[in-house]
Amino acid sequence: MTPSTPAIVILGQGSLATARRIQQVYPAAQIHGLAGRVEGADCTYQEFGATLRALYQQDTPIIALCAAGIVIRTLAPLLLEKGVEPAVLAVAEDGSAVVPLLGGLGGVNVMAREIAAGLQVSAAITTSGELRFGTCLLNPPSGYALADLELGKRFVSDLLAGHSVHIEGAAPWLAQAQLPEDPQAQRSIHIGSAEREANANELLIYPRSVAAMVSAEVPDLPNTLRSALHEAKLAVQSLACLVAIDTEMAAANLREAALELGVPLRFIAATSDLHALPDVSIIGSAHGITLAVSEQPLDVAQIGRPRGRLAVIGLGPGAAELMVPAVKAELARATDVLGYETYVRMAGPFRDDQIQHCTDNREEMQRARHAFRLAAEGRSVIVVSSGDPGVFAMAAAVLEALHESTDPAWHSVDLEILPGVSASLATAAQAGAPLGHDFCVMSLSDNLKPWSIIEKRLDLAAEADLALAFYNPISRARPWQLGRALEIVAQHRTPETPVVLGRDIGRPGQTLRTTTLGALTADQVDMRTMVLIGSSTTCTFPRATGGEWVYTPRWYGEKPDA
Ligand code: SAH
Repeated sequence: MTPSTPAIVILGQGSLATARRIQQVYPAAQIHGLAGRVEGADCTYQEFGATLRALYQQDTPIIALCAAGIVIRTLAPLLLEKGVEPAVLAVAEDGSAVVPLLGGLGGVNVMAREIAAGLQVSAAITTSGELRFGTCLLNPPSGYALADLELGKRFVSDLLAGHSVHIEGAAPWLAQAQLPEDPQAQRSIHIGSAEREANANELLIYPRSVAAMVSAEVPDLPNTLRSALHEAKLAVQSLACLVAIDTEMAAANLREAALELGVPLRFIAATSDLHALPDVSIIGSAHGITLAVSEQPLDVAQIGRPRGRLAVIGLGPGAAELMVPAVKAELARATDVLGYETYVRMAGPFRDDQIQHCTDNREEMQRARHAFRLAAEGRSVIVVSSGDPGVFAMAAAVLEALHESTDPAWHSVDLEILPGVSASLATAAQAGAPLGHDFCVMSLSDNLKPWSIIEKRLDLAAEADLALAFYNPISRARPWQLGRALEIVAQHRTPETPVVLGRDIGRPGQTLRTTTLGALTADQVDMRTMVLIGSSTTCTFPRATGGEWVYTPRWYGEKPDA
């Protein structure tokens, strides 16, 4: 499993330079700066304690640029509740010290060393086992699984107390450790894929060296597979992956079984089978499952290919706080990112291994097909839109491309649309609640629909007394349309009708203006503006902080009794 992207949390401007250097080590990590104290962070937070605790509870690794004591005190109330925890590190503001605090099993020492290398200092590693033996026995590298953590802890403390150990089986990473090895030792580390009860003086480590060829036809796949492994005397922990033929790529039970067993699912051509894997012995089985066992952990990335994924995501209006967590997670797992250059840049920064495919805004269908071609190869592809991907954006184009295609590989792609905060909603929230009652969303662009239909819809929506949200209100190629649209609306609304203009909402230099329909002219609006026009019940009143609140009441007609 790839650890999730860390958050870099800073309290003052003085830490930003160090934070940026750490970000070079983890390019997907965001710098969270305290509001009012830090300028130029990737996102801001209001309260240090609440922010740190929320990150910890979401299992986000934390790199806090402040005193270790502050971090400890802040997280203290949560520490006892938690079994598995994310890595937590304190880093000195000037980058002179890197202190791993929590998350030994979450790889905190590995992170401490990576950050320390980036800052050209040494990490303050305090874990005795790791210091003494040069490796954390309890956190074996990927490809190996520890049988039992509690037994493992006791085992390591025995070694620290002076007991020697001998190693049974092959584990190249242990050969590099400085263990107190003695062929006569009572204690042993046993590495092997066989199912086995640990003896009192034994640490069991399983290499993930078994591939299981399965099919969607197998009933109760997880349990059937467990039985097949048991009959073959192989430990479930040795399972490295499930393999199926690529025509079954979309089968839900395969996906669920892989999830339940905690292993990746790979696909091979129907003409191929596990015999194609190098250095394995094949064990057939009566349950419609074939097992392939290797001496060494299997390199799962080399076995067939994964089911490709295509996520059409919405970034929200711009500010990182307004991006939904599912989108953030998707950005971290993507191999390829497609979209209009401005939005791809807004979605970044990306790691070196993530490929950015920037295209012109007009080539929507081409971009959608390109995304499917990449995903059908097994890649994890993102198509970015601003706001919500289903609102005048890429989601519909992607579905249209799929609808037009007869390629089964495209239809097997794991396609998901992840929503975002649309510009009308982000603008409305800043103004108050102008869309608090029924409203109508329209794009004023006549690039993809005739102007006559826009006029007709405007006329009917205005007549129906719906509040109106205009996307794409104007552009250089469409200079007169907004003026005409306002004329139509004015036939049904009074000049006093409140209007909200939000420009670059959630982005640097955002502006929010409240005006009226009578005072609104097309030159106050550009293509980066959201236009919200009230209904007959929309009203305004002054805010204590200056400016106005705008809202449309929940009721219509007669105000209900309080
Ligand atoms: N999918 C996007 C809309 C794309 S259409 C969404 O859901 O928000 C592009 C139009 O959206 C722009 O012409 C502008 O009218 C509006 N828009 C997009 N982002 C905006 C922002 N941050 N502030 C104000 N308007 C925005």
